Amino acid sequence: MYDIAIIGAGINGCSVAHEFSQAKKSVVIFDMSGIAYGGSGAAGAFISPKFSKSGELKELIHDAFVYSMDFYEKNFSHLFTKAMLLHIAQDESDSEIVKAYKKGTSLKFKTPPKELLEQLTQEAISQENICIDGGVVNAKAMCEALSKNAKFVKEKVESLVYDDGTWIINESYYAKDVVLAIGAYEALIQEPYIELRGVWGHRIDIKTTTQNPCSIHQFVSISPSSNGCLAIGATHNIHYHPQKNCEPYDINEGRVQLLEKASRTLNLENIEIIKDFTGLRSGSFDYMPIIGGLVMSNETLSYGNLKFKTKKPKFDEYSYYPNLYMINGNGGYGFVLAPYLAKILCEHVLFGKKISERLAPARFFARWAKKIL
Ligand SMILES: Cc1cc2nc3c(=O)[nH]c(=O)nc-3n(C[C@H](O)[C@H](O)[C@H](O)COP(=O)(O)OP(=O)(O)OC[C@H]3O[C@@H](n4cnc5c(N)ncnc54)[C@H](O)[C@@H]3O)c2cc1C
Repeated sequence: MYDIAIIGAGINGCSVAHEFSQAKKSVVIFDMSGIAYGGSGAAGAFISPKFSKSGELKELIHDAFVYSMDFYEKNFSHLFTKAMLLHIAQDESDSEIVKAYKKGTSLKFKTPPKELLEQLTQEAISQENICIDGGVVNAKAMCEALSKNAKFVKEKVESLVYDDGTWIINESYYAKDVVLAIGAYEALIQEPYIELRGVWGHRIDIKTTTQNPCSIHQFVSISPSSNGCLAIGATHNIHYHPQKNCEPYDINEGRVQLLEKASRTLNLENIEIIKDFTGLRSGSFDYMPIIGGLVMSNETLSYGNLKFKTKKPKFDEYSYYPNLYMINGNGGYGFVLAPYLAKILCEHVLFGKKISERLAPARFFARWAKKIL
């Protein structure tokens, strides 16, 4: 019998495994493919804030960015490359956003190295930019390190049954609490109000004689050089989905797009593509991540005295699956958000600390119930 079973060994599941292991809980983590084989294995894993003018997602990602930079550096510095991050506006209107961001941020500005500026294209130099401290995570190794104290089981979870205070997984494993961290994959618990969209992404590792000391973000992200290699990512392909398209993904088209976009920023010389990475990012319909307990829609709807057509739904009155939680919907910021969200989820499960209603799955139940009734 485990204290916690986690389903999905991407950055979300592995960060949750780390938090619970740190709290001396026994943890089992399942993945049908292996550690970091989903979206997390494809990620360039750049650690960056969201450079937008305002909004709750920007604020959340800012807090997560500050937390994660410190978390990775303190706990896993060998798997984290701290590097200056040069964010360059894409065009004139984006320049206004970058200017507004610079005015409002508490982050310290850095001066980009002269040798980097000399290698930027005219198109990059002519736009507004901001340079701060950022970082890049070694995605797969980080997921492995985060989950090292958990028992790893390479199995697809197909059956999840609650019986007499215990969750039974695939009829053979027992746990008190279960955390679903399955990214953009087929849902294990069918609830009509939970909808996630998978956005396909492609990144490449290249060999090049161009030396880059920083992370650069403009049309795509370019990592600092390491042994003559750098990572370029990622595409946001809303027209391709591995489960929905009949045609296979055109890897060459993705490569051309990535190189064309990176070359608009940096003068890249003597390029050889050495590896492709592809995967799905999982995003929610209001772009905010989803963490917390899952509402049982049928049971909750059957309560005659609850008001669903209200502007102020009371999430505490809903009926929840016992000891079942989810963490998902990190979009393109999984490696920035996961350590921060895992901490929030762990404190909720272990100490009953409340999760913000803007992050709770119940927000989608409230909207769905209001619409259908
Ligand atoms: C190309 C690309 C580039 C990206 N770049 C960045 C970046 O630079 N910075 C950043 O912060 N984020 C980036 N992201 C986003 C980030 O990768 C995602 O937000 C993150 O991977 C989400 O992690 P996850 O753990 O939720 O999902 P995943 O990593 O997809 O993990 C889910 C896991 O669940 C497993 N699973 C599902 N169902 C079952 C089941 N029934 N039984 C067992 N196992 C199951 C899957 O096998 C999978 O391994 C990028 C994403 C892509 C695709």
